[in-house]
Formats: sequence, C-alpha cells, structure tokens
Amino acid sequence: MSDIDVLISEVGPRDGLQSIQTIMPTDAKKAWIQAEADAGVTEIEVGSFVPPKLLPQLADTAEVVSYARTLPGLIVAVLVPNFKGAENAVKAGAHKITLPLSVSETHSQANLKKTHAQVLDEVRKIVELLDTLPADQRPAFEGGLSTAFGCTLEGVVPEAKVVDLARQLIELGCDEVGLSDTTGYANPSQVRRLIKLIWAEVGQDKLTGVHLHNTRGLGLANALAALDEGITTLDSSLGGLGGCPFAPGASGNIVTEDLAFMLDAMGLRTGIDMDKLLLVREIVKAAVPSEEMYGFTPDAGLPKGYGTGGWGIAA
Ligand code: ZN
Repeated sequence: MSDIDVLISEVGPRDGLQSIQTIMPTDAKKAWIQAEADAGVTEIEVGSFVPPKLLPQLADTAEVVSYARTLPGLIVAVLVPNFKGAENAVKAGAHKITLPLSVSETHSQANLKKTHAQVLDEVRKIVELLDTLPADQRPAFEGGLSTAFGCTLEGVVPEAKVVDLARQLIELGCDEVGLSDTTGYANPSQVRRLIKLIWAEVGQDKLTGVHLHNTRGLGLANALAALDEGITTLDSSLGGLGGCPFAPGASGNIVTEDLAFMLDAMGLRTGIDMDKLLLVREIVKAAVPSEEMYGFTPDAGLPKGYGTGGWGIAA
C-alpha cells in the first residue's frame, strides 16, 4: 500500500446488507463489488459466514467471495462469528477474516450468545487452523473489538477492558486487532486516547484500522482524529447503507463517498476515482430501491472545479 496514504475498506456488502431486510440478489452484489473495485477501492468486506437462518441476506457469501477473488488486486475480507465460520471462510478463499469480540460482555451474549472466554476459545481454535495452512493460503486474522467506545446495553465500557482484551487477542495469535464503534458512541478525544492506550499495550503495528459509525454525526470527526494519530485503514459503507436502527435518519457506518471526498480533498492518496465511486451508488440504489441511502457529497456533488488543481491536491 505504498502508493496510497489511507486504505478505505468498504464494508457495505456485509455491514450494510446485514442491517436491512431486503435481500440483495447475488448478481447485484457482484456488480457492486466489481464497480467499486474498478473505482479503486482495494479492500472490500463482502459478507459474513453466519448461519443463513440468522442472516439470509448474506447466505451467498461463499459465492460472493469466490467471485471477488477473481478481481485483480482486491483484498477480499469477511466476518466470521466463530470457528465454523472461519473454516468456511478458509474454504472459500477469503484473504482476511475478522472475528468480532464485544468488549461489553452483555452485548457479546446478546450478539454471539457467547461469553468472552467462549469467544477467546474460538479465537484459539481459529489460530490453530490457520497455523496448519501454507503461508500463501493463510488469511490475515483480525480480532475486532466491538462496542469499544460504549454499549447500548451496558453503557460505559471501561478502557482498561478494551486494552486487556486487545492484549489477549494478540497473545492468542491474531495478526491485528481492530477498534469498532459499533454503537456510534465514540468522540474524537476518546478515539485518540484508546488508540494510544492499545498501541502502548500491543504495539503500533497491531492496530492499524478503525471501524466507525456516524450515528451521532461524529463519524468523520472521529475518522480524522484516528488519521491524525496514525491510523491508516478506515472502514466505511457506500451510501451509509443499513442506516442505524437506534437513530432514524442517521447512517450506520460512515459513508464511503464522504470519507473518500474528505481524504481526496485533503490531498491524501486513497487510490479512488471520485467520479467512478459516485456512480457505484446507482447500482446499489437499483438493487435495493426501497432502502435509504446517505451521504452529503453524493447529494451536493463535487465542488466546481474539483480535481483541476488548486484544491490542495499534491500541494
Ligand atoms: Zn459497523
């Protein structure tokens, strides 16, 4: 990633689609992923290996993974809730797997029906499985620290607990941890503090990405705080698809188009072509027309004269 400054990791086909009732046809998912890869997005979380009974929206994840693998240069990421999911992800050939561990144990019980000890057990088994694979077939393994900034069930989540679970995940053999504001509770000061605390515990190379939501309108402010600290990967969702069930009118994940615009306008290289990215939205809109899509940049359009210089690009 030496030719880019910031990696935008698109999570819409997973985080967005799992949050809506409408099931997007497999062909539309493929068209979406292809168009976004064509626009220059180099990492996409394309689905989740959860039982189809729980999330019928993502039942075609194996097929979507094998399709996405044919797109040159694209890192194909998936979510897995447990060992079984990781097995399926390996079989399908995902390049990166993320297992979410809710720092709030109440949330963990509600979400995965597992205690921390049980989730950490799954992590141990997954590392054992990955260790049997030849290096070129071994996916990167991230432990996602969800509800790291607060929980809708427990409220305040102690920072010491986040740091402690980060340490345990790395000790068990995760390549990296990720920080997730699952609930949209984070503020920029908290983002800065938690990044520094985790780096002090496990090392800067073990936390390079954050997953932010825009529930209370602080998504981009939080993203900028993370960038200023030195974070290089930011998750976002095209059109903020999925919304937020707790805050009507608010997008869920930060909006890819707005994030890409902010970075591009600041002169940071993302590898993304803004005009092409804004067109990807049409594919998603056509496939799930009843779903709300968010984003200021797509609504307002790019500023007059944008991209012709004088915008601080390559300044
Ligand atoms: Zn999310």
